[in-house]
Amino acid sequence: MDYNAWFECSEGCAETYSLSDVIYRCKNCDGLLAVKHDMELLKQRSADDWKSLFEQRYMRTQYPYGSGVWGKKELVCPNIDDDNIISMYEGGTNLFWADRFGAQLGLGDLWIKQCGISHTGSFKDLGMTVLVSMVNQIINESGNIRAVMCASTGDTSAALAAYASAAGIPAIILLPKAKVTREQLIQPIANGALTLSLETDFDGCMAIVQKLAARPEFYLANSINSLRIEGQKTISMEIVQQFNWEVPDWIIIPGGNLGNVSALGLGFLMMYDLGIIDKLPRIACAQAERANPLYRSYQTGFTEFSAITAQATQATAIQIGNPVSVHRAIRTLRRFDGIVDQATETELADAAARADRTGLFNCPHTGVALAVLIKMVERKQIRPSDRVIVISTATGLKFPDFKVDYHNVDRGEPPPRYLNAPIELEADYENVLKQIGAHLDA
Ligand SMILES: *Cc1c(COP(=O)(O)O)cnc(C)c1O
Ligand SMILES: [Zn+2]
Repeated sequence: MDYNAWFECSEGCAETYSLSDVIYRCKNCDGLLAVKHDMELLKQRSADDWKSLFEQRYMRTQYPYGSGVWGKKELVCPNIDDDNIISMYEGGTNLFWADRFGAQLGLGDLWIKQCGISHTGSFKDLGMTVLVSMVNQIINESGNIRAVMCASTGDTSAALAAYASAAGIPAIILLPKAKVTREQLIQPIANGALTLSLETDFDGCMAIVQKLAARPEFYLANSINSLRIEGQKTISMEIVQQFNWEVPDWIIIPGGNLGNVSALGLGFLMMYDLGIIDKLPRIACAQAERANPLYRSYQTGFTEFSAITAQATQATAIQIGNPVSVHRAIRTLRRFDGIVDQATETELADAAARADRTGLFNCPHTGVALAVLIKMVERKQIRPSDRVIVISTATGLKFPDFKVDYHNVDRGEPPPRYLNAPIELEADYENVLKQIGAHLDA
């Protein structure tokens, strides 16, 4: 089958472009471009046939189809030759049944989709495999691109640097100085990317990278580029597949630049269109109160939107005041009867720490989503029998200071609710036994 996809203007007109064009916005009207698929051709295969094809490939070794993204290649990006694909077997992440945490909240069907248990430690791998594979194909066919580049709050750059170095393509990374963790900073450095640490915030890096993107020899890897969205939309497909093709009631996802919430919606809509599912979930987008432009817009029924200057938040990956995908995110939330809620710094840290006590190791962004989950349960917006999925966007291992600071008794504030500070004591058997006894009796 000659499955086909292309860029199409999704805002002003309906101009189309090839996926191998180096283009991010419509030449006519400056609108964002979306990837469109030949749905009529895709519909010629029955829903059952799609499901069994995806089942056969899932988590097997036949390259590249064992990848969670490329196992759904026809629905993601059929135009890339297998030989040009740069995959690290991204996706296929576990769904954690949050049995104990759910029980504490009165929920019996709570699941955490661990998108951060992946090659570079965040869901960004899912989109980057598609984008870098396309760049690889363009280079192999015409050779006009000299480097890929991105502005990043830390995770995009880690993913871009890893996939670019696997492909042998130079990568240029723009990071806001002192606003990413040591762990995030060292990833592109280790992968050999040119790493530029700028005296600004993410939005400032984005402004510069967008100017650089006017030069066709640099290929922009930010999520304004909808090839990434195509890879990320497999998150919804994978969740449904992991539940035997059943659709959950609610999905809660942290949002910054708002590409991922749009991707989540796109994945569900495509499965719905193909008859793979017969209903849609509701979506809740969770923002940090200190970087909440979408939440503010939601308060106006999405009739107004203004960019803001994001304030410092522990959830650094979503410290974004001017999200590039805001319009597609609003369209998604409208279609999915969605809501937007926010979490304060204390709420996000407490929620992450509380869930950590039940076996997780949450990053601050997942903490934002968990805090919103707690509020939705308290408001009875989520019912005890609902099946709820929280999207965990990165591994907590990338954000050690977030936890070290939380569990630090010396920080000179009232102790946080779930503090568990280490106890220093002499290496004396009786003393140790006494401490253990006191702890277990407490
Ligand atoms: C990128 C990222 C997000 C936000 O995703 P958007 O598509 O920008 O909304 C959330 N959490 C983590 C860990 C991320 O890396
Ligand atoms: Zn247009």
